[in-house]
Amino acid sequence: PQVIFSGIQPTGVPHLGNYLGALRQWVKLQNEAPPNATILYSIVDLHAITIRQDPVQLRQWRREMLASLLSVGLDPKRSIIFYQSDVAAHSELMWILSCYASVGYLSRMTQWKSKLALPENTSPLDPSTKTKLKLGLFSYPVLQAADILVHRATHVPVGADQSQHLEFARECANSFNHNFQHVLVPPETILSPAKRVMSLTRPHLKMSKSHEDPKSRILITDSREEISRKINSALTDSVAGVTYDPLNRPGVSNLIHIMYHLDETIADSCEALAGDCRDLSLRAFKERVIDAVDEQLKSVRIKYEELMQPNNDHLLSDISDEGSRKASANANATMSLVRGALGL
Ligand code: ATP
Ligand code: MG
Repeated sequence: PQVIFSGIQPTGVPHLGNYLGALRQWVKLQNEAPPNATILYSIVDLHAITIRQDPVQLRQWRREMLASLLSVGLDPKRSIIFYQSDVAAHSELMWILSCYASVGYLSRMTQWKSKLALPENTSPLDPSTKTKLKLGLFSYPVLQAADILVHRATHVPVGADQSQHLEFARECANSFNHNFQHVLVPPETILSPAKRVMSLTRPHLKMSKSHEDPKSRILITDSREEISRKINSALTDSVAGVTYDPLNRPGVSNLIHIMYHLDETIADSCEALAGDCRDLSLRAFKERVIDAVDEQLKSVRIKYEELMQPNNDHLLSDISDEGSRKASANANATMSLVRGALGL
């Protein structure tokens, strides 16, 4: 039977990139998976501390993330929703995998370089890098592999920025299985059609929760006014009319990409949508994008505000308690196989 797993860091309220690239897919899989499938979605707080976090802020973000996941349509009756740090087996399997993971492979990963704003060809052993680069940020993909493998996930829905890490997780599973018994399951990546949503202010970078400029992203809880302000100030260009050309017109193309993927029934492709909007001024085009975003996020925003009311504290903690109970049981079953295989 299928096991679907994915995770999101509690590093802020999810943005349109998280929504289109991951969360909407999570909900779709939840609603369409066969009844015998196991579905797990984790708020990966141990990943969040690979960069510095304020404890009060982190606690708040964990809760906001749980409310966000419920607001977009995850149903705790169907999906196991839990905080990663509640399930110790994730960290335990990480240690075991890290005894087999190659430093060479990890040093070719690009995420730690982009989080530290280092150039592509940086080595972890460069003198200026060595002190800045913490072990946890470097071994982030090993924890991520453990998250997936400890649940013996068969399918992992993520955005394009995670493809490399998924490849690494498969490699971890295969090498473990090769050395021991066939205990772990190499997972399949599920990429959403909206693979990569770009930043509104720097459209050559992906939209991120942790980027310093709040105007670079639209949060799924933003009001119409905030949506309007951010899209109106999104970086575009001075070319007349609307065309889809990600290479030469990254800003405009990103807005088309967003509008198309919010509702894929409005056109056949990004190119076709750009054709429909060809004669609009950029100002008028942006108004359409604002309407489309607001229309899709309205109900999410209302649900979120409701869930964040203090009287819903218990509801949220009951959901995460039950989630961690179920996730622990699932993970512990794998861990006894792993320990047995290793001779522990
Ligand atoms: P952070 O900046 O803290 O890393 P993030 O915005 O990258 O935050 P994550 O929690 O790292 O979000 O990732 C959660 C999921 O969202 C992953 O599946 C990731 O691939 C997806 N995702 C993140 N950013 C984008 C984006 N810009 N476009 C599409 N998918 C994205
Ligand atoms: Mg990220």
